[in-house]
Amino acid sequence: MRLTTSDRIRRGAAVGAGITLLVWGVMLLGAFTSARLSLNNIYFLPQDTSDTVVIVAIDNASLAAYGRSPVQWSRQVYAELIARLNAGGARVVALDVLFAEPTEDDSQLAEAIRAARFNTDGPRTRVVMPLDGVRPLPDQDTQPPALHYAQVLSPVPPLAEVADQLAYIDTVVDVDGIVRRAPSFVQETDGDMRLGFSLAAYLTYNGIPAAAAPSLLQAEDGVLRITPDLTPDRVLYIDANGLWQQRYFGAGSQTFTIVSLLDVVAGDIEPSQFEDKIVLVGLIDATGLVDRYNAPLALSGRSMAGVEIHANAIETLIQQNPLRDIPWALEALLVALLAIGSSTLYAHLRWYWMLGAALGLGLVYSIAAFVLFDTQNIILNLLYAWLALGLSALVMLGVNMTLERIQRERAEFLLRSVQDAARQRLSLDNMLPHLADDIMRVVPVQGGHIRLNDASIDDYAWGTPPGPPPRRDALPQTGTLYPYADGVTISLQAQGHSLGSVNLRPQRDINRRQHRMLHAIIAGAVPHLENAQLYAHTQQQNRLLQGILMGAPSGIIVLDEWQRIININSSVDYELDLNSAAYIQRPIEALLADLALEDAQRTRILGAFQTDTVFREELRHNDGVFYLDAVRLADIRHWVVVISNVTSLAQLNALKTHMIRMASHDLKNPLGSIMGFAELLQDESFSPEGRRFLTSIGNSAEHMLDIVTGILDVEQLSSSKFEPLPVSLSDLLKEITETYRVQAEQRGQHLDLDCRPNLPSANGDKRMLHQAFSNLVGNALKYTPDGGHIQVRLSQPDEMLHVAIQDNGYGIPKAAQERLFTQFYRVRTEQTMHIRGTGLGLSLVKSVVDQHQGRIWVESDDGQGSIFFVALPVFLHHSD
Ligand code: ADP
Repeated sequence: MRLTTSDRIRRGAAVGAGITLLVWGVMLLGAFTSARLSLNNIYFLPQDTSDTVVIVAIDNASLAAYGRSPVQWSRQVYAELIARLNAGGARVVALDVLFAEPTEDDSQLAEAIRAARFNTDGPRTRVVMPLDGVRPLPDQDTQPPALHYAQVLSPVPPLAEVADQLAYIDTVVDVDGIVRRAPSFVQETDGDMRLGFSLAAYLTYNGIPAAAAPSLLQAEDGVLRITPDLTPDRVLYIDANGLWQQRYFGAGSQTFTIVSLLDVVAGDIEPSQFEDKIVLVGLIDATGLVDRYNAPLALSGRSMAGVEIHANAIETLIQQNPLRDIPWALEALLVALLAIGSSTLYAHLRWYWMLGAALGLGLVYSIAAFVLFDTQNIILNLLYAWLALGLSALVMLGVNMTLERIQRERAEFLLRSVQDAARQRLSLDNMLPHLADDIMRVVPVQGGHIRLNDASIDDYAWGTPPGPPPRRDALPQTGTLYPYADGVTISLQAQGHSLGSVNLRPQRDINRRQHRMLHAIIAGAVPHLENAQLYAHTQQQNRLLQGILMGAPSGIIVLDEWQRIININSSVDYELDLNSAAYIQRPIEALLADLALEDAQRTRILGAFQTDTVFREELRHNDGVFYLDAVRLADIRHWVVVISNVTSLAQLNALKTHMIRMASHDLKNPLGSIMGFAELLQDESFSPEGRRFLTSIGNSAEHMLDIVTGILDVEQLSSSKFEPLPVSLSDLLKEITETYRVQAEQRGQHLDLDCRPNLPSANGDKRMLHQAFSNLVGNALKYTPDGGHIQVRLSQPDEMLHVAIQDNGYGIPKAAQERLFTQFYRVRTEQTMHIRGTGLGLSLVKSVVDQHQGRIWVESDDGQGSIFFVALPVFLHHSD
């Protein structure tokens, strides 16, 4: 069974639909989230930054100088830092350090911040300070978008008062342990709205005071619009918790300018480095203290300090490319397209192409997703796509392998059946049980009945077969199952005619697969059955022929086209006293050699096998006389030779001939005497009545003498052998017509002879031919009334010489023509009744013509005159 294209498409689409549902399930249940998120990390590649963010690192050197805990450092250090950064012209300083514990120097730091903020002599620097929420727990009652904290740590009051912004520094870790999202804003319990740290730094950098920020933000439907007057619209895509997705441009040290806090405070850094920058102050490279997180593009073990993550988030806002997820409906649609499309494609491919196609499609899809990420900031979940493509490939692979296995099993099964059938050498006795076996291997049945239409061949039944199925008029196709009362029937169709049917009593319903197999088995068996049936018939025919051959009372020999004996019956043994078996497969020549034949006869017989298609020879062997009749069967060029023992007939014939000769010969003399004396008495003085009697005696004696002469002539001619010589037919016919001319003239008849000139001689015996043609001309005169017309013509229209003797006399009725040439047959019509004859003349003519290998025929009808035709072979000069 070969799959059509539409089969493949259907199968591919079905598998694709299944995979689609599966992947949708995964999407809906949020299964494999961490794998999904991790896969998307490949989107992040190091990128150039705007060089707006400078990180002042609280590093090991700084810790060594000012103490192990930056929280407990003298606030004077920070005051000094703010002053330095302000002097350098930093636009924003964002401190990623919590100042929740009050210290003695808080007022000095507050003073430094105030001085920087309200600097009248030089650049102004604004300070963003962090708030830290304890665990971001989304509250069930809170409507998004908002983050809620159980507890908030904020800077001590003097500092909080002078800071330009207080913002949340929380980093939100995804289920796979990686930080991708930053808070946009947090609705605090007292109703205030606080920004996320990076957003706060960014807005401050753009000169937006804290008090104005809430009024510039509009959050709706997952989108946070920032519409400050001074900058173009900014859009952040936020989730239910107000988190937005940031980009990563690279790890801190390689992406952002990082300077040591110690160097800044010591004045070792060129102040202009901070001009118009956002300066982030936080822990980096501080052994044992830094809060580190896993993040995309992080160096060394994929971890990053919080301050680096903020730097990446701020850069994202500056570059205007925050990320967003693709809408879920679109993603679901994509999954469906990928699964169904790829499965349909896979259905047409071999397994290795299929795997190649899956990898190729995955790659193309990933590249497209990457481009989408890079240019449109849209995140496509690679996991879903890869699942759709990969699972489709796997399932199709499985389906194809299963189908291939089933097909192979089927092919093997059929092959085995064919081999078995071939081994059984076409015998129906083996084939039917074998077919039953095959059927039972495929369909469990209680019993069955293989019914053959051919009455001469036995059916085969096994188990508990069902009853006969009802008759149907239309011829169903082989393999179509028809259920009926207690079984199902399948017709055995061979080229439009029915061989019979297989009727089964199945144990349970036959399923599609079983039906297909059954169809295949039966379709496979039908030609064998047909052959076996033919074979059985041929066998029967053969046996019949063999029986006829063996039982025939005549000897029969069958020769092949090279005259080799292929069959010979026992009658040959009996008649010819031979051991016929010894001649099988030997040429007939060998058998003839063992018969006591004359050389000339043997040569003639062998020659006849080469030239003739049918011939008869008389054989004499061991005192017996036999006819050897040979016929070549035109279509197969075999010869059938029948040998009949005619010894007793020959003896009888010889006896008859002898008797007739004797009788005829002995009758001739007394008849002669009767005729002579009857004539003598005519002179005596008899009464007229007495003389009439005498005349009648004389006539009867004459008629009897005619008959006796005729009989003797026929006997003599049929038994005489002649040496063929050239005979000029024109001379012969001239002689004959001259002889008859006187008689014709007496009766006023015209007798013409018309001979074509320069004709060859005939091959024959002059005396016999003279007798034959005399008879024909004599008849023509005899059966034509006085004054009639008789014409004799000689011509050569073909390779034979033709003589036509035509008269316009009484003619011969059609019905009589058939027997005209048999002995003693006379046509009796009113006109010819009185004409004297013996009925022997034409049989004599026929016998002469036959002996000359010629032909004789007549064209005539009652009252229409007659034409007798004789065709004779031409005398051929032998070259020797
Ligand atoms: P017969 O001695 O009676 O002539 P044949 O054997 O010569 O015997 O002829 C057989 C029969 O054929 C004749 O009895 C005659 O009726 C018929 N027959 C032969 N030749 C002719 C002919 N030329 N015209 C009509 N009838 C003929």
